[in-house]
Amino acid sequence: MLTSLRPFAVHKGKTVFCAHCGHVATQEALFTVDEDINLIERYDDICERKVD
Ligand SMILES: [Zn+2]
Repeated sequence: MLTSLRPFAVHKGKTVFCAHCGHVATQEALFTVDEDINLIERYDDICERKVD
């Protein structure tokens, strides 16, 4: 379940790529998998709209 989405800023010169298409990531999505398990995936502006 997607619990939050926030802008993702590249820092320390390290580029992170979209988990879906491989473009440069600009959004960070936090998912709750189980009570104590969170998962963070990063997406670009296009793919973050498809995430649920
Ligand atoms: Zn993408």
